[in-house]
Amino acid sequence: MTETLPRLLLRLSEAGDPAILWGRQAAPHAGRDFERLLDHGVLVEQAPATEWDVCPACDCGLYARPVQQVNGQHIAVCPTDRRSDLVLDDDDLRSFRIHPSALVREIAMASGFGGEPAPVATGVWHLGETSNQRALFLALSQDAALQPGLIGLMRSLARSSPITVIAPAMAADDRARLVDAGLHLVDVSHCIACDGAAPGLSIDQSKLESQPSLAPRLVIQRAAKTVSLDGTPKTLSDQEFQLLVLLAEHALKSPAIVENRAIEAHIWGASIHRISSQVREPVRALRDALARGSTDATSVRALIENRRNPNGYRLALPSEEIELLS
Ligand SMILES: [Zn+2]
Repeated sequence: MTETLPRLLLRLSEAGDPAILWGRQAAPHAGRDFERLLDHGVLVEQAPATEWDVCPACDCGLYARPVQQVNGQHIAVCPTDRRSDLVLDDDDLRSFRIHPSALVREIAMASGFGGEPAPVATGVWHLGETSNQRALFLALSQDAALQPGLIGLMRSLARSSPITVIAPAMAADDRARLVDAGLHLVDVSHCIACDGAAPGLSIDQSKLESQPSLAPRLVIQRAAKTVSLDGTPKTLSDQEFQLLVLLAEHALKSPAIVENRAIEAHIWGASIHRISSQVREPVRALRDALARGSTDATSVRALIENRRNPNGYRLALPSEEIELLS
């Protein structure tokens, strides 16, 4: 068993309501925790299945095949081929509906949020406040997290508090839409039933804190020919841009130093021989361009660092602070 019962229930809930736990999936999790979820109404057992999926490649034309009792056995009968009949046991026919609001109540209780989670919209609840005074919401499914109007509803409930939303992992552009609206988004699997730190269905509050900003200081987009430093867009000439890309490429590998003659060859082409001192001019222009609009122009200019032995320049940023995009 690789997946815990809480993880399984959350995963099945991601596709939306109704989420069904089949007896076959539930069987390995039988025990006290499972009984408690039944008692609390998180899992509600349904009537035994009377229909079964048709054979994977069947011409019977049925939407589902009937389950029949034959000699005390449950058999999913294939109307066209007896050899495709499937003998089912009780676990196959059992199923449990996962009750979303009861599941969320269980999560809130296990996490120490007092009171009943307040429904905000279909599939979304307001759990309360995090330890760092953020309004905390939980969306069980992708559809719930992305429903129209949700951001406004959450804002009105949060009043002026910043908002954290726990939601299933979603596509990058969907995620960006929520993040752009100022929400802090945490994956369900990142903070609930994630590992040993928070037992059962409880939320690991330490996983809700905003990650320290790992935003790179320098972002270069090659195709678009844009540069931003410390979040400020910089205007560079073609030559300045080419020089910065060259230095960034080298800074991302080793050695970071680009020798003067390599810079010359890059800017003017290998066939033209010039004296090294002429590299100073494009370097100065690049430093000026980067420093323009920066509060600390001196330290920005020093990012294009003079080096000796070999004589050249390097971009004085650690590789994790440089993002060189195609
Ligand atoms: Zn069949």
